[in-house]
Amino acid sequence: MAEGKFCPVCGRAMHPIKWGYAVCNNCKYMSSNAEADSGAPVEGVEAVRKKNFTTICAFIKQNFPHCNTVLDVGCSKGLFLDIARVAGLTPTGLEPDAKLAEHCRAKGFDVLDGFFPGADALSSKRYDIIIFNDSFEHIPDPQRVIKGVTEHLHPEHGIVIINLPTSEGLMFQSALLLMKLGIRAPFDRIWQKSSSSPHLHGFNKHNLRMLLEKNGFTQRYSSPFPFYTVKGLWRRLTCQTSFALSLVSWTALILLYPLFRLKSDCFVSYFLIGNSVQGQQTGGARCE
Ligand SMILES: [Zn+2]
Repeated sequence: MAEGKFCPVCGRAMHPIKWGYAVCNNCKYMSSNAEADSGAPVEGVEAVRKKNFTTICAFIKQNFPHCNTVLDVGCSKGLFLDIARVAGLTPTGLEPDAKLAEHCRAKGFDVLDGFFPGADALSSKRYDIIIFNDSFEHIPDPQRVIKGVTEHLHPEHGIVIINLPTSEGLMFQSALLLMKLGIRAPFDRIWQKSSSSPHLHGFNKHNLRMLLEKNGFTQRYSSPFPFYTVKGLWRRLTCQTSFALSLVSWTALILLYPLFRLKSDCFVSYFLIGNSVQGQQTGGARCE
């Protein structure tokens, strides 16, 4: 979203910060002026994603036993598809990168080509669950995305799961402070600004909930997620950052690991389509 536009969550005017970033002073939604792209997989995140995806699939099985079909938007190399299949779900991938889509098909998965929403291959298909694993923040128009979710979810018991970074995290807030002091590199790195898959949006659990609720969804549960694991961290940092910044970041992240777990930079939220009562019927975890 360019500076000078309106907040997609609450509709107030966005206020420019600098270097192409802007914030809504009402709901704290943030935006970057980076251009959207299909991007490449981020290196070094497999260990933490595996852990988080396993948690999500267990939550689905425990709390939504009537749900089976899952559309994974931006399925990349198919890590979520692997874990969902083992958990007994029936996952389908949606992936704009032809090579990644082929990689997943070679593992036996059904993968649709294209972007969400609007991919021709989606046609009138509907799913019990649509999941965005670190993809929601990369798609240009959140309102259009949610409209697409409504069109492709089961109209009575559909669930959308959004797993993404939060602007309330310790790493994000530290980098924001440095950016305001004139040190730009860590903030640009968090937004993946120089990569082929930059973040366009900075949500937190409150404004994401506002966005979904104003579009007719009900939040069932939200929880912080680990943002990184020690395993894979060096590879993750060095794939997009200079050696010097990687070394400083790696040292800080290792030394302050307990702190970063306390105020995590990642979260997951589960939303039910409409004002469904299935949340009350299924018991289990409560909203937070
Ligand atoms: Zn706002």
